[in-house]
This record gives sequence, structure tokens and C-alpha cells, in this order.
Amino acid sequence: MNSSPASQSRVGLCCGLSLLIAGLLNPVIAASFEHRVEVELQPVSGEIRIQDQLRVEGIRELRFRLAAWLAQVEVEVDGVQVEMQRQGGDSVIALPGNGVYRIDFDMRGKVPARDQENTRELTSSSAADGVYLPGYDGWIPHPAGRLMDYQLVVSVPSAQRAVVTGKLVDEQLSDGAYRASFTGSQFTEAPSLFAGPYQLRERQWQGLRLRTYFHAELAGQADAYLEAAEGYLERYQNTIGDYPYADFHIISAPLPVGLGFPGLTYVDRRIVPLPFMRSRSLAHEVLHNWWGNAVTVDYASGNWAEGLTTFMADYGLERDKGDAAARAMRVKWLRDYSALPAARDRPVRDFRSKQHQAAQVIGYNKVAFIFHMLSLEIGQQAFDDGIRAFWRARRFARASWQDLQVAFEQAAGRRLDWFFRQWLDRAGAPRLSLGSHRVDTVDGGYRTRIEILQPVPGYRFGLDVALTTETGTERRRLFIEDRLTRLEWITPSKPGAIQFDPQSDLFRRLQTSETPPILRDVTLNPATVTLIASEQPAFAQSAQTLAGQLLDSAPHFLQPGQSREPTQPLLLITSADRLAGQLERLQLQVPGEFADVDFGAVAWTARLANNTPVLVVSAQSTAQLQALLRPLPHYGGQSYVLFDDGRAQSRGIWPLPRGALYRDLVTPN
Ligand SMILES: [Zn+2]
Repeated sequence: MNSSPASQSRVGLCCGLSLLIAGLLNPVIAASFEHRVEVELQPVSGEIRIQDQLRVEGIRELRFRLAAWLAQVEVEVDGVQVEMQRQGGDSVIALPGNGVYRIDFDMRGKVPARDQENTRELTSSSAADGVYLPGYDGWIPHPAGRLMDYQLVVSVPSAQRAVVTGKLVDEQLSDGAYRASFTGSQFTEAPSLFAGPYQLRERQWQGLRLRTYFHAELAGQADAYLEAAEGYLERYQNTIGDYPYADFHIISAPLPVGLGFPGLTYVDRRIVPLPFMRSRSLAHEVLHNWWGNAVTVDYASGNWAEGLTTFMADYGLERDKGDAAARAMRVKWLRDYSALPAARDRPVRDFRSKQHQAAQVIGYNKVAFIFHMLSLEIGQQAFDDGIRAFWRARRFARASWQDLQVAFEQAAGRRLDWFFRQWLDRAGAPRLSLGSHRVDTVDGGYRTRIEILQPVPGYRFGLDVALTTETGTERRRLFIEDRLTRLEWITPSKPGAIQFDPQSDLFRRLQTSETPPILRDVTLNPATVTLIASEQPAFAQSAQTLAGQLLDSAPHFLQPGQSREPTQPLLLITSADRLAGQLERLQLQVPGEFADVDFGAVAWTARLANNTPVLVVSAQSTAQLQALLRPLPHYGGQSYVLFDDGRAQSRGIWPLPRGALYRDLVTPN
């Protein structure tokens, strides 16, 4: 996520830790305001003094929003004290004319102490473990939507360090204080300030200063972070264009956030040690310096930046691991999309920021998938050229979906209006199914004919097809645009099976039969019934508790002899000795993946013949079952998890079944 300066929004990490403050839109006006700011901050008490000398030109009044906690404000215009007016939520200073004026602010207050119960409220806060002063909170008097140039000096007690968005130009430790100076040029939002009992680690890379500002317990992470950051900067610099800022800092936060600001990222100190943060989320935050910070989002026409960042960072890293990993990520996106109720589906163009999971499914995942399809449509070379052209054209400017389209059209040398319109303006996705097929012997071999049906009309897309014959697999790419497409394919050897979209390259709505079942299919459904199978009262007791923790709504227990409706999802909790008998009644089998593995307990999903999902939890003992109480509810997105003494030994999502786009071909002898 990024700090989206123009919109003044803040969004949490991809892991879903945090939230956003949705913002307002203000047009950026070209003339820049010049600030010279001095900040004296006592992080422990929150006491702060801010002096700002502002040079303005060509305005009759200065209108801005000022943080309410700045209790004492004195203002002089060209050395003459003036009164600041309050109008609604705004502060206003009337100027004698529209010439050049110097406005001096001297402001004092106390940064609110952090409410440790409610750290999700991302406004300014202070505590001994860190101070957060986001630019959008109005601690510098600056009119919204105006570019700003600034020189800022901040001083804190010597045990603390402070850092501000912008370029670090100087720092000193003297007289019991740490002082650091920063400059910023043509910034689209006021600087944000971060202070805390930080330990610094630094390295230089191609003239950039890379730094960590970490809490003491994270000192051992610093080098690995700097090295990872360097790798990501190099990667995106090579693919897109030069890194747009002077420094890059990684700051540990005493808040549950993962935020990107121009030239720095601010990450929950508890998340910093987790492997995914450095190996994936950091890449995402680094890339936001290009998409979101240096090229800002024209929110009125939709937010393209999260999806493009997800595609180039999160997905790009999966692609490095190979085709299978990249495909697995696309399948996960399709799986998540298929779980989105149609009523909550929205056109991509409506996405502004992540306010809930549904928005992530569209604004991050679907958009990333669209960029994947675009790269297949126009080719990797044209895609890469388009990205670089877009960067050159829109660097330090606002950009819309239309700007992206123009860049890709020029790179591809053709119109892509149909592509962008169908994927951005329409909610939903293509649905595909196969109609009748026929295989005949003809001169020189076999002729396979098969129908591809598109019940939702009007989508146009490329579709790969793999035809497996006795001698190997042949591949083709079709272009689908009609409701009914007839494929005819002559092969010298006998065809056995045909698979459309074998690599899951098309964003489409999966049919139920194609989506691997996950725990959530059972646990989120209010119609789910629970069956407990065990001779032992203690086991049954624990099973009831587990059902209560797993299910989203109060459990309905099936009594002995009572049967359920065929379409009601089933949660079966059974002792290992009763498992075989229960599965036989359901006509299910223990999955081959762990039929021969020793484990203490296991949870796995399956679908009955009528597609109803089932979640089976079996344990070798009451103790093994009890050990699931705490961990199991965290694995809702998995198809199976194996446990020993409550520790997950392995887990995963079932492979995507061959499903609706696979057909065994019946061939005449
Ligand atoms: Zn992001």
C-alpha cells in the first residue's frame, strides 16, 4: 500500500493488517509554497514547538487545516502580528494584497499520547516508543493541493532519532540533542515526521542513502533489510527508470501499519521480523515510490497503482520462482474472486482504496491479473516499453487509467480501447463452458471438434488450448469473442483429452467444480451443520468447543440418527478410529497427499458428489484435538492442514481440478 499523497489516504499492508483513512481530492496547482520549518520535539511527553517561515505569492488569503492539538499559534505577516480566523474546519489568514509575503508561525502544543487500545486511528500520536506525525494531519500550515518546497530541521533528545520525508542533508549530536535537516522539493503533500528510540544503520548505493531506523530489538534485521531494499531498488530502476528520490528509509513503527511514503516505508515493529515482510511486502512498498508516490493517482478515474504494484512486485517475485508459482498466485486470485458474492462485485474503475477485502479482490488482484493478460495480449517487450514510456511521461505528475492505456497503445502500435473498456468498466468476468464435442477419423489422422460457450456475451480474449494425443501435447491460442466458438483441430495421432486455459491465464469466474474447497467454504456458511463422531465424552466435549471457535455462526449439532439436508455444508469432527466409517458414509476418501503420513490431527476439505463442501477434522487423541483450538481457526484459506501437538506440519490448497474446461475425448476405434 502506499501513502497516496494526493488523496491523503493511508492503506495497510497486503497481509491485511491495517486500514486506511480515505481522503479527499484536491487538484495540484503548479506554483510551489516555500517553508522553512524548525521542530523541537519531546517524544516522551509529546511536547512540540513548530516554527514555520512561509513565503507566499499571488494569493489574497492563506487557507489550511491545522491540527487541533496545536493549542498556541502566533502568526506574523511581514513582522506584524495578525489574527488567524477559523472558518469551519479551516484556518484562514487574510493578506493585505496578492504580492509576496512572509508569514511566520510559532506554534506549540502536545502531540496526543497514543491510545494503546485504539492504535488503528492513524492520526498524530506520541509515546516513548515513537512519534508519528503524518503530513495529512496538518502540523504544518499548508494549503491542500499546493506543491511545497521545504527546509526542515528537527531536534529531539539525544536518545531519540527523528526522520522526515525528503532528503536528509545534515545531522548532528550535540548539547544533549539530535538535530537533523531535510529538504523537499515539489512535494505534493506536507512532510511526515517519525521519531523514536531508533538505532540507525546505513549503506550507500548508487549515490542513494539507504537507512534503517529500527527499535533496538530489530537491530539484527537491519543489514538484511538494507540488502533486500537495494535489490528491489535496482530491480525497479532497471525495469522502470531511475529511483525518483534521494534516500530510502525503512522505519519500524510502534503502530499496526505498513505504509509507504515518498522515499520511506513505515512498518509495524512486530511485522519487521516476519519473513514475508522483507521477502515480499518490502518490494511492494519500494515499488510504490514509482507508482503512487512519484506518479500519483488520478483518483477520480480509478486507482491503477495498487494493481500495478501488486503485479510488478508481489506477482513479479512469484514469477521469479517459476511458472508453477506464478500460476498458483493467479489461481489464488481466481479462487478469491469466485468467493466474492456477485452483489459485491464492482467495476475496476470504481476502486479507490482498500476499505475491505472485497476491494482488495478487485483493486489489487483483478487489476494485477489484467496487467498479466495485457502482457500476453501485446507481448512482454511492448508491455515493458509501455511501462517505461508511462513512467517518462507521468513522473511527478498525476496519472489516470487513460494515461496507461495511451502508453501501452503506443508501445503496441495498436488501439487497446476494447481491452481496457471490457476489463475496467464492466463488473464481473467471463464465464466459460464446453459444449458438445466429436472426434472423427479423417484422411491423415483425427479431427477433433468442440464447442466453447460464453454465456455472458461481449468479452474478447485470447485462450490457450492444449490437446493431448497419443504422441504428445499440441497447443494453440484461440481468440474468443462470440457466444459460441467452434474449434476444429486435425491431428495425426489419436486425441485423448483437451484442456482450455491450461495455465489459468484468463481472468474468469470459476465454476464451483473448479474451485478447490477451502476451510472457509464450511466455516463461513451459516447453513453448516456439525457432526461429532467419538466414543469418548472428553473428545466430544473438545469437539464442541472447536466447532464453536471454527464456525462464523453458532454451531448446529447433528444428533445421533439425525440426518442433514443434502445441500448443507458439513463439519465432521471425528476421532481417528471412527474416521474410516464416517468417510464411507459420505463416499469420501482420505486424500492421497497424506494417506500414509503420521500426524496427530488433520483438517481437510472435500466436496460431496453434489458439490456441497465438507470439512473433516480428525485427531488421534483428545489432547491432539484440544491442541487445535487455538491454531486451526487461522487456516481458513487452506484446503488442508496437518498438525502435530497443535503445530502445523504442512498445509496447502488442493490443486485446481481439471474442471469445466477439461474434456476427455471419446474417440472411435
Ligand atoms: Zn500497496
